[in-house]
Amino acid sequence: MKVLKFGGTSLGSPELIKNVSKIVNKVQQEIPGVVVVFSAFSGVTNLLIEAGQKAEKGDKSYSQTIEKIITKHLTYVNELFTDTESNSNTSMILDSLFVEISEIVHGMFLLKEMSPKSLDLLQSFGEQLSCTIISEYFNSINIKNQLLDTRKIFITDEKYNNARIKLDITSKNISDATSDQKALYISTGFIASTEKGTTTTIGRSGSDLTAATYGAVLNVDSVEIWTDVSGVMSADPRKVKDAFSLKSISYVEAMEMSHFGAKVIHPLTVQPLMDNDIPCIIKNTFKPDDPGTIITNQPQNRCLAKGVTSIDNIALITLQGSGMIGIEGTASRMFGSLARNKINVILISQASSEHSICAAIKPESAVLARECLEEEFAAEIAGSFIDEVKIEEDLSTIAIVGEQMKHTPGISGKLFDALAQKNVNVVAIAQGSSELNISVVIRKKDEKMALNAVHESFFALQTKLFLFIAGIGLISSELLKQIKENYSRLLNNKKLNLIVAGLCNSKKMLLDSDGIDFDNYKKLLLSSEIKSDVNNYLDFIDKEKLTHCVFVDCTASEIISKSYPKFLSAGVSVVAANKQANTRKYDEYKQLQQLSHKNDVQYLYETNAGAGLPIISTIKDLLDSGDKIQKIEAILSGTISYIFNNFTGEKPFSEIVKMAQEMGYTEPDPRDDLNGMDFARKLLLLSREIGQHLEMDAIQLEQILPEDCMKVDSVDGFFDKLKQYDNYFTEKQQKASSKGKKLSWIAKYENNEASITLQSIDSSHPFHSLQGSDNIIAITTDRYPIPLVIKGAGAGAEVTAAGVFADIFKIANTVIMKRNY
Ligand code: ADP
Ligand code: ASP
Ligand code: MG
Repeated sequence: MKVLKFGGTSLGSPELIKNVSKIVNKVQQEIPGVVVVFSAFSGVTNLLIEAGQKAEKGDKSYSQTIEKIITKHLTYVNELFTDTESNSNTSMILDSLFVEISEIVHGMFLLKEMSPKSLDLLQSFGEQLSCTIISEYFNSINIKNQLLDTRKIFITDEKYNNARIKLDITSKNISDATSDQKALYISTGFIASTEKGTTTTIGRSGSDLTAATYGAVLNVDSVEIWTDVSGVMSADPRKVKDAFSLKSISYVEAMEMSHFGAKVIHPLTVQPLMDNDIPCIIKNTFKPDDPGTIITNQPQNRCLAKGVTSIDNIALITLQGSGMIGIEGTASRMFGSLARNKINVILISQASSEHSICAAIKPESAVLARECLEEEFAAEIAGSFIDEVKIEEDLSTIAIVGEQMKHTPGISGKLFDALAQKNVNVVAIAQGSSELNISVVIRKKDEKMALNAVHESFFALQTKLFLFIAGIGLISSELLKQIKENYSRLLNNKKLNLIVAGLCNSKKMLLDSDGIDFDNYKKLLLSSEIKSDVNNYLDFIDKEKLTHCVFVDCTASEIISKSYPKFLSAGVSVVAANKQANTRKYDEYKQLQQLSHKNDVQYLYETNAGAGLPIISTIKDLLDSGDKIQKIEAILSGTISYIFNNFTGEKPFSEIVKMAQEMGYTEPDPRDDLNGMDFARKLLLLSREIGQHLEMDAIQLEQILPEDCMKVDSVDGFFDKLKQYDNYFTEKQQKASSKGKKLSWIAKYENNEASITLQSIDSSHPFHSLQGSDNIIAITTDRYPIPLVIKGAGAGAEVTAAGVFADIFKIANTVIMKRNY
């Protein structure tokens, strides 16, 4: 025989019942002899409880709740039964059930009381109603079946609301009730009765256990639990977007996952199946062809961790005090007292100092737990050996589960690293000695973020890096182009999914955690309703619980550069093409470095010194590997490089500057390059990277333009003025060339001093052969007495974007490395 179980989620509408009938019919046709266990229709058990609670409180609106229950079931009947006879037959049976419900709840209203016993009677109607409708419907479409009422079969103790099944007598009853091994049985789940015949229930979501018990007693080949997801997933799909179905897991893993919040199966379901070695298959009613998850003794999947689960609302009760140290029996008294008061303990943690023991419990038990512990330890509290019993609320517990974690070092390190990265504070930790589960208690508000971060760290099939870009000028357009061109390669080869989740210009912004459409972003920005404000990026990251994020500043905006501390503090890495933040006060520069360390994120700005040239990373590598930098010489401006490389005496200086302007090498006003400020900022940054606490005014900057050229208002006026100085420049140039030298405006850092001066250099100088608009830097170190030279295009959107992309990629690589650990 076979046992199937359909939960409330599979029965959410009449249409779904039709769907279920097809699944059941197919199974019964293939192998006759099936017991199908059904829950109440979705939401009905909750409505029944709600009606009872209202009545108990004297709230008359209980009758509206009952009305809702009646209407819901009648809608099913009207849609499922097209012929009048079966429609009215079913309605008649239901009517008597509705009357019973109304009378019971009315009784509760009069007595203002709802005992656990009467609640069980009330709850039992959910399954009675659903199974009546389903059984009648199946009959009406010629799927012949026998209806089993488990109140007559499943015998339990008297622990109402959570009764335990008495297996001996229940087994006998099951065998008797299913004597026709070829029949199709439709059975209520969840409900049972005591030996005296009083209705009980076996705990919320208990239909799973009903099915497992049938399976174990009938020794079936498998028990199938049909629900609304394709199996046990690596995390709750409602909380973790990237959760995926697990092909197979072991019984103990399934048990551990369900105990720690995976609602997909009831925690007690697995035991009877495990005892009898019966596989349990979790299947999706909405996607019957999906393979689902098979729970057996031999899971195929050898992954270390199988899933991450959570219980979203717990309280932590702590007993602490110096009087507990070395005194045996404290824990046993604490847990004995909680057990006597029927308080379920979810998790226990004791520090090795024995100074405190804490236990996670349901918040609704917190007051009782405190009272019973205060009573148990009254003498110790009075003698100040034990402090007051402490209760903390609004907590959640998250757990990673997996049999293979046993004896594998580093698992908890990885867990805590993932939590630390998102600034999630850990309140308590517990690891079972079975090493099957590591649990941490955290603040409830952090639950979703923690689940996503831990899931990403342990289970991500790909690394998602969310990019939030500021600026849609030349650099970012080029960057987007490069991301698009490389997207598939990175996804396939590196399992890196680069998602541009935010994009903004100075007015508007776009946000989309699934990725902004690259081809249409300009149009989308125009029609966007969101006003540009980088704080919106942070809010969005928080709201969507995005794990690895990078803010990419492709602007030259001062305001935007001042937002970096906020991003770094929020655990978001920053890549800046913008030089502003690094070249204001030294303290500001230092603060950004410190924030990135403190928050374990990266702050990268390779393009600040020479666009795509690897200047800053080379200096960092030299220093990190223990080298000492003696001297740096550099030309870090494409404009200046171009002007002096072309000023060979054939054309006057002003004409060369004009050419540079016409070819787009200069700022609109060439003086913005020729005043040396940008060049000086780069030198300042390099000096800081070497370790000098320099401020801008410490840079000795020799101006090349005569003062009156700087004073002219217009750009045209400037060129007129410059012409008047052509001879002045030509003289300098000729003086140099007469000695075989070349004029060059060079930045230098040596002996803790930084300067930019106009020099005449001979052919032995590494910069003598510089061509076009190339940038160049020569780094003399202890290991490189003959300087290490880096040379190449140091400006232009394409190389700058490539430099930004390289920084992004560095961040991605760190994330990938952590994930693979
Ligand atoms: P049913 O009504 O079929 O018994 P439940 O609502 O009890 O369904 O359980 C299915 C739900 O369990 C899924 O919709 C899913 O949201 C939730 N769930 C929580 N954790 C997990 C997990 N690890 N794997 C699968 N589902 C999970
Ligand atoms: N109907 C019951 C509940 O909602 C039992 C179940 O669904 O398994 O808890
Ligand atoms: Mg369920």
